[in-house]
Amino acid sequence: TPISLAQFCRQLVEEVQLTTSTHTIVFCAHNQCPNGCLDQQLLRHILTNLLTNAIKYSPESSLVQFDLICESQKVIFRIQDQGIGIPANEQPELFNSFFRASNVGSISGTGLGLSIVKKAVDLHGGQIEVESRLGEGTTFTVKLPYSGCRLSDKDKLVSLHPSTTATAPLLN
Ligand code: ATP
Ligand code: MG
Repeated sequence: TPISLAQFCRQLVEEVQLTTSTHTIVFCAHNQCPNGCLDQQLLRHILTNLLTNAIKYSPESSLVQFDLICESQKVIFRIQDQGIGIPANEQPELFNSFFRASNVGSISGTGLGLSIVKKAVDLHGGQIEVESRLGEGTTFTVKLPYSGCRLSDKDKLVSLHPSTTATAPLLN
């Protein structure tokens, strides 16, 4: 069954928040979204990876801010952390398979998450951008165009019907 995009994101935040007691994810849906559809599996994959990275690469007790902004033609997801950041000269390599930045220290990982996220975003006809300062934090912005809804895809889709709670920030 289709659900609102804000509600979908809120549920995802609740799931990821359950995996950590040391970080707080703050979700904010800024405005109402027009009708449209997005693939729930792909969206879940993209957002879970970005939220998990934000937690993994930032210190205990820090905040992860997750913003949902709807424009007339596209949806914008912004995930911002107060973590270790990514060295500027290494940022062009970020979406390459097995890339891990030089400042990860003892934080473990395979370096595959973001390369797969990039493929999922491309499949959606979207864009992903990063803005990061070493030792200050990182912001990932994902922009996805609305796609048409096909009835046969019903189970895969997130409806973008306006949510009545669209402006209420959720504190976990
Ligand atoms: P995994 O495959 O388990 O996700 P990973 O987290 O190392 O492992 P990616 O998610 O692809 O792999 O990220 C690649 C690299 O980019 C990371 O190793 C890290 O150096 C850097 N990185 C990704 N997200 C962040 C972030 N939010 N803050 C700082 N560095 C990050
Ligand atoms: Mg990762």
